[in-house]
Amino acid sequence: MDDYQNVCYLIHFDEPIGNAQHYLGFAPDLQGRMKKHRTNKGAKITAIANNRGIGYRVVRVWKVPEPFYKSEKYLKGLGAADLCPHCSRYIRAFIPLSVPDEKAQGRPFSAQ
Ligand SMILES: [Zn+2]
Repeated sequence: MDDYQNVCYLIHFDEPIGNAQHYLGFAPDLQGRMKKHRTNKGAKITAIANNRGIGYRVVRVWKVPEPFYKSEKYLKGLGAADLCPHCSRYIRAFIPLSVPDEKAQGRPFSAQ
């Protein structure tokens, strides 16, 4: 599972929570991080989704270079909805995204 270590990841919620339908984060170990999300120990928004029975899943993963916070900040600055394969108006004409110093590798994450 090395591919899922030190990654930025994008979660899409099946229903909006407030006015958010995405969560973008960084995880040293995505599998471990998803376990935390699923058990209310991750982010506040995933705990709300769990409590309301709103489904969610990882829709994109980027292997990112250090310093990780910079990559996370960079991706957040691009706008989560525009990076989501389900929601983006632009995704069909998507030009491969680059994060500083490394090409992004968007790919589905199946081991939730
Ligand atoms: Zn989405």
